Amino acid sequence: MDKILRIDVGAQGGPKATVEPVGDYAGMGGRAMTTMVVFKEVPPDCHPLGPENKLVISPGLMSGSAASSSGRLSVGCKSPLTGTIKESNAGGTAAQALGRLGYAAVILEGERQGDDMYKVFIDDQGVKIEKANDLKMLPNYDLIEKLKPVYGEKVSVISIGTAGEMRFSNSSIAVTDPEFRPTRHCGRGGVGAVMGSKGIKCLVVDASNAKMRQPVNPEAFKESNRKFVEGLKQHAVTGQGLPTYGTNVLTNVLNEAGGYPTYNFREGRYKHHQTLSGELQAETMKNREGGQPTHGCHRGCAIQCSGIWTDKDGNYMTKQPEYETVWSHGGNCGISDLDAVAKLDYLDDNYGLDTIEMGVTIGVAMEAGVIEFGDAEGAINLVHEVGKGTPLGRILGAGAATTARCYGLERAPVVKGQAMPAYDPRSVKGIGVTYATSTMGADHTAGYAVATNILKVGGDVDPLKVEGQAELSRNLQVATAALDATGFCLFVAFAILDQPETFSAMVETINGMYGLSMTGDDVVALGQKILKMEQEFNKKAGFGPEHDRLPRYFSREPLTPHNVVFDVPSEELDKVYNF
Ligand code: SF4
Repeated sequence: MDKILRIDVGAQGGPKATVEPVGDYAGMGGRAMTTMVVFKEVPPDCHPLGPENKLVISPGLMSGSAASSSGRLSVGCKSPLTGTIKESNAGGTAAQALGRLGYAAVILEGERQGDDMYKVFIDDQGVKIEKANDLKMLPNYDLIEKLKPVYGEKVSVISIGTAGEMRFSNSSIAVTDPEFRPTRHCGRGGVGAVMGSKGIKCLVVDASNAKMRQPVNPEAFKESNRKFVEGLKQHAVTGQGLPTYGTNVLTNVLNEAGGYPTYNFREGRYKHHQTLSGELQAETMKNREGGQPTHGCHRGCAIQCSGIWTDKDGNYMTKQPEYETVWSHGGNCGISDLDAVAKLDYLDDNYGLDTIEMGVTIGVAMEAGVIEFGDAEGAINLVHEVGKGTPLGRILGAGAATTARCYGLERAPVVKGQAMPAYDPRSVKGIGVTYATSTMGADHTAGYAVATNILKVGGDVDPLKVEGQAELSRNLQVATAALDATGFCLFVAFAILDQPETFSAMVETINGMYGLSMTGDDVVALGQKILKMEQEFNKKAGFGPEHDRLPRYFSREPLTPHNVVFDVPSEELDKVYNF
């Protein structure tokens, strides 16, 4: 991956593509690339939807190679939701396709002229940009249907739905999966709105004539990748739990731990959790025609945590909803029907919405009395309001914090304006530290302390005690930043945290690919470098330690069943970035 594609959307006569050598950004990929470009090229005090912001799309360093589970695609920008720097990544097939075509990054920049929407086509022959007003305001699934006769089903598409075009702060960027469906989303932080502000509806990537990326040291690469896959297969989470039940294996686990936020974060257990469990979800998919509980979001993943959900008659409904989606639209809203959750997941993907932000926003709307907790039809209608851009939909589409403000509520479970995911910070305190201090706003993937607090992966830190949480979150945030640069899926972390030989095999796979001799310390240094750039950007954008806090009511309202509050002192939170 030795080139960067820049698209100046403000060029005279329409967006103009320029391909340049990777230059100063050599050796960067995924989050390292998106963060460094935003850090160097975007003024921290700019408006996220203005001409000075840029949208950076970058495959991970290993994407497009034969390394297992390495197809993550990062997008980065200044976030319209949080006002901070943002990186959000997704699986799907586009990272591998861009990697095979040699693109280390695609950067959308400049000031959109007029109201036209454009599509970008990238293949081994170059880049074509065309006006695509016939695609305007199409939801993602309709868009894909319209593209099929033109490009076939072997291409990868990166797109926005109606929410991104309307520049909503909870809009996502979709990436197609191996079945050519727009199911994998860079969801967090309103990245879809930045793509919408640049007037680009979709990028179609055709790598059918491009070969898989070849390692510099093929023997070492092959052997290390073999050991890496072996390690993934032998770990209980990556070898059994995730392939069998998907991420929703966590519903029963978090409920048992009293860390499952219910009714807009009022209780820590949900009495109907069994009706939403991963066990029931997998069983249902096995028994329904067309259902598939074990499936890869891209080719070459040894874990295969994703799946396909069909209705009672065997008709495709959506991909297997992730744990965070089942929680946000399910238990958090008092909805206990997996088919209703699947419908909501489909609508989020179709309109191009972050399922976490959308579910938490509906929970806030339920608390405000817009609809009742448990009202699945009402929730579906609210997502339609967002997708269609009605006045109410525009409020909800601006996210949970804005919705709470519009309805005069204190109880908005957000940090830096971004909704908390599916783990209550009072009874899983390590994740609370990550929510508070992450450079991204509340984000479980930024430092997944749930692994050590609850799953006892990578050690054991009591989730209910203050001791050790800041250090745990720091170490995980550093490791995650580095992992997000590689293109390896975050889920490999379960195996590499517990099995030193699997961590070594992963590092050796990178070394074999690039002909390097990186050590574990170099990986830590890369993670620290990324976080320092992100923190520096945020500081210049106006964020200080006072923003690294949870909403006060989490320190005031005890959570059942443990009757605990979030009591990690501010001094501890302020130590997280001491490195
Ligand atoms: S583990 Fe799951 S999310 Fe990660 S790459 Fe594999 S299928 Fe995709």
